[in-house]
Amino acid sequence: MKVGVLALQGDVEEHLEAFRRAAAELNISAEVVRVKRADQLDGLSALAIPGGESTTIGKLAQRLGILDRLRTVVESGVPTLATCAGAVLLAKEVSDAIVGPTGQPLLAVLNAAVVRNAYGRQRDSFEANVDVEGVGTVRAVFIRAPIFAKTWPPARAIAHVDHPRAGRAIAAVRQDHVLATAFHPELTTTAFHKAVLEMAAGRL
Ligand code: GLN
Repeated sequence: MKVGVLALQGDVEEHLEAFRRAAAELNISAEVVRVKRADQLDGLSALAIPGGESTTIGKLAQRLGILDRLRTVVESGVPTLATCAGAVLLAKEVSDAIVGPTGQPLLAVLNAAVVRNAYGRQRDSFEANVDVEGVGTVRAVFIRAPIFAKTWPPARAIAHVDHPRAGRAIAAVRQDHVLATAFHPELTTTAFHKAVLEMAAGRL
């Protein structure tokens, strides 16, 4: 199968590597490709949208004329993993913890309201062990991470994290074939990449 990583900005290489390792661990033969143009979305069995800076990724996608096609691909049921800024991009409602409504370009397919930079600044980044329904316990790295303030069906929370200031916050969401995380699984585990590959292979 062909598996794509949106490669406009952010930690693209880590996602390419995580997909390669996940495919090897599952004995699935996968060609893992960078996606920078709309035509590179054709024929994908699974997709990852990396973390980085959601405003930058969204604006680049818009300028390159790939934003609408990307939305269609996710809506069409291609198993998708969106991490951190990628999850922001997927959400239907986005605000920033300090500046409020951002008006940034969005895919707006995930039934979730997201608050960007909800744990504070770069130095407030942290790690925690997180139990993820259907995935297991993972080491989660939160880097200027968002919080899912709200989800509504068919999206639902599949992981939470307890934070000294923010309290109990949603850390991961599933909506049908879409997995969205506030943290960066590509840095510590292949579990999420395996989950979307298994969805693509019809095993999950
Ligand atoms: N704060 C970034 C944003 O909202 C996300 C950070 C990240 O992807 N690590 O776009």
